Amino acid sequence: MADLHDMTVAQLAAGLQKKDFSAVEVATRFLARMGRDQHNAFLDINSEVTLAQAQASDAKIAAGTSGPLEGVPIAHKDIFVTKDFATTAGSKILKDYRSPFDATVVAKLREAGMVTLGKLNCDEFAMGSANENSAYGAVTNPWSFIADPKGQIKNYVPGGSSGGSAAAVAARLAPAATGTDTGGSIRQPAAFCGITGIKPTYGRASRYGMVAFASSLDQAGPMARSAEDCALLLSAMCGPDLDRDSTSLNLAQTEDEKKFGFSHLLRIDHGDKPLAKAGKDGRPLRIGVPQQWLTNQIGNPRGVMDGCESNVRERIWEAVTKLAYLGAEISSLISLPNAQLSIPAYYIVCAAEASSNLSRFDGVKFGHRAKEFSDLADMYQRTRSEGFGDEVKRRIIIGSYVLSHGYYDAYYLQAQKIRRMIAEDFQKAFESCDVIAGPVAPTTAWKLGDKADDPVANYLADIFTLPASLAGLPCMSIPVGLGDMGMPVGMQLIGNYLQEAQLLNVAHRFQQVTDFHSAKPEGV
Ligand code: GLN
Repeated sequence: MADLHDMTVAQLAAGLQKKDFSAVEVATRFLARMGRDQHNAFLDINSEVTLAQAQASDAKIAAGTSGPLEGVPIAHKDIFVTKDFATTAGSKILKDYRSPFDATVVAKLREAGMVTLGKLNCDEFAMGSANENSAYGAVTNPWSFIADPKGQIKNYVPGGSSGGSAAAVAARLAPAATGTDTGGSIRQPAAFCGITGIKPTYGRASRYGMVAFASSLDQAGPMARSAEDCALLLSAMCGPDLDRDSTSLNLAQTEDEKKFGFSHLLRIDHGDKPLAKAGKDGRPLRIGVPQQWLTNQIGNPRGVMDGCESNVRERIWEAVTKLAYLGAEISSLISLPNAQLSIPAYYIVCAAEASSNLSRFDGVKFGHRAKEFSDLADMYQRTRSEGFGDEVKRRIIIGSYVLSHGYYDAYYLQAQKIRRMIAEDFQKAFESCDVIAGPVAPTTAWKLGDKADDPVANYLADIFTLPASLAGLPCMSIPVGLGDMGMPVGMQLIGNYLQEAQLLNVAHRFQQVTDFHSAKPEGV
């Protein structure tokens, strides 16, 4: 039997049901490991709460009333509000804030029987690509040691903004974590830390109780070791929540979906060439690789930017070749001509929405309030100046500017038009393929501090994740090996609306014949 902390969500769930071990044993193991966290992944731990939940799970298992994931631990990105743990959103302005209720996603995972391990570090209000924008310090990538065997350059970034989630899963401090993805924050840290993560179609998971960054883009999703685990977790987290989030989707489920959730396709045995029949009407699954994404230079509005590094490109091609071997038809001819405009479009739209969402942090209703002030306006100003970090302030300023009278048409409206064009590019591409495959990021993880003072360098690193976010499409990241520095490379899979089961199926078939997803950093 594998060590408890090395087990997947699926293995833990099965072992708990068979009473091979108890939920208290599992929770105790992870709490002990979390106590030795070297990555600054956790922001709040409360072992009493965790153990009480685990005890309750053991009682349910004994009584035969358990949920599908009863007793399996999970940790939450500190963007989800929780009543038993502090919620900071990585910001000083919410230091020690306690929510009176649980986010819908947290409540649903509890209903499925999951035990909460604690809250995970993230970029402040989920704004960032390296987890260096957290008011509670940067998170380090558990693979750093491999990248630098001599120990000269110790630390690499885990990616962001769900950097704590990715580091915790990679370091086996938690078997699974929640993340949120506005422009790549599940996929990119999953790629940088060698784990699997999925952002579902916009609206699949309720945003109720997720501290808002850019509401038209924010989506919750699971981060775990395998596609199978992600399928189990996603089934438990998603579902309509119309009274609380009017953008949550009200979907009728098929009988298979009701019974097996997102893992229904994973259960069908397709034989040796499982993707040969996984397309429409039993035809081979068609995978499209956008030609612009695997070149070393990408045209952008200001000229040409560095594209995908060769070591990333090689791993992606090897993985795509593997998918062909599994029976998929590969077409490298698809084109997403407007995708390179996603950086300016996204950074206008997300800043605009952030400037509006963050107006609620005024020192009156939530968290921090400046100690000394002369009048109400002065109180607002001091509270926000003290409470927000640089990147958050930068986005509030950009957002207020692009929404202001006289600039709205020139920036915000243009960005919305580009957003529509990108979504249309995808629909055109999906006429000739079922799933799009490509890189998650142009490089592997970079060293801590390398881009910390250069916001634009961080923005440019989002080139491959932003298009699917702007279009609201489901997309995921799976590990496909290591790059030159020994740091993990992630492959992105993008599906059409509501095709999560298909994406997870492709990823699962890939993981059945490869073991990149089970590789772990040295010393873990
Ligand atoms: N890196 C992007 C940003 O800083 C995406 C963040 C996210 O998905 N939350 O906005």
